[in-house]
Amino acid sequence: GGAIRFDNVTFAYDPARPILKGVTFEVPAGKTVAIVGPSGAGKSTISRLLFRFYEISGGRITIDGQDIREVTQGSLRHAIGMVPQDTVLFNDTIRYNIRYGRWDADDAEVEAAARLAQIHEFIRHSPEGYETEVGERGLKLSGGEKQRVAIARTILKSPPILVLDEATSALDSHTEREIQGALDKVAENRTAIVIAHRLSTIVGADEIIVLDGGRVAERGTHGELLARG
Ligand code: ADP
Ligand code: ADP
Repeated sequence: GGAIRFDNVTFAYDPARPILKGVTFEVPAGKTVAIVGPSGAGKSTISRLLFRFYEISGGRITIDGQDIREVTQGSLRHAIGMVPQDTVLFNDTIRYNIRYGRWDADDAEVEAAARLAQIHEFIRHSPEGYETEVGERGLKLSGGEKQRVAIARTILKSPPILVLDEATSALDSHTEREIQGALDKVAENRTAIVIAHRLSTIVGADEIIVLDGGRVAERGTHGELLARG
């Protein structure tokens, strides 16, 4: 389950300044759709609308055919796992950080999530260089590694839908590859929306939507968009 549909969605924070002017796209269950576009195009707004943080002024958003206006915000939060741009981690072990919010999860589950997000090697360390479970000084995690901890935390909650908001700050290409590798694995067989800031980070998406001027300006696979320049 988890198919998402935006049907001619219009939205404005300020009525004088429309942000989305009729946006239509679909994320089939089990598929990954990436949203790219210039800064301010409304990419993050799309994820906020999915949680119903704001009401749309026209159109319809559905999950598995159900209008999200008929769903409580609580159920939306359970249905949608959000990996935010900036992840603040606790100065405790990565294991603790991944388990956060799913205290019933046993070690095997936490480790499986860590492996999927490719952060398993750090599980006994802390993010900022404090003492760790193993009595060594912890390693200081990079931004990409922190985001992978957040990915592991989210997938441990096994939400039917995953939303990943990539960092806006310029990531180095090594970090991009690390996050992309983790995300490709995690998004497999899961409905996922990736909010990306660069075409190069979303090679694995089933479809890419280019948002511009409040509308879907282009759509296609990574190869198709590159071919069109
Ligand atoms: P993107 O993620 O594509 O960079 P956003 O969805 O964050 O774009 O923002 C789209 C536009 O809406 C921007 O012009 C931004 O300044 C504006 N905006 C975002 N959040 C708010 C808000 N809470 N109130 C008013 N305007 C907002
Ligand atoms: P609670 O207060 O129930 O602990 P949180 O406020 O920590 O919940 O958020 C629960 C979930 O709601 C998060 O995991 C995330 O998926 C979603 N969420 C919270 N704030 C935002 C936000 N600003 N944008 C998108 N999703 C959010």
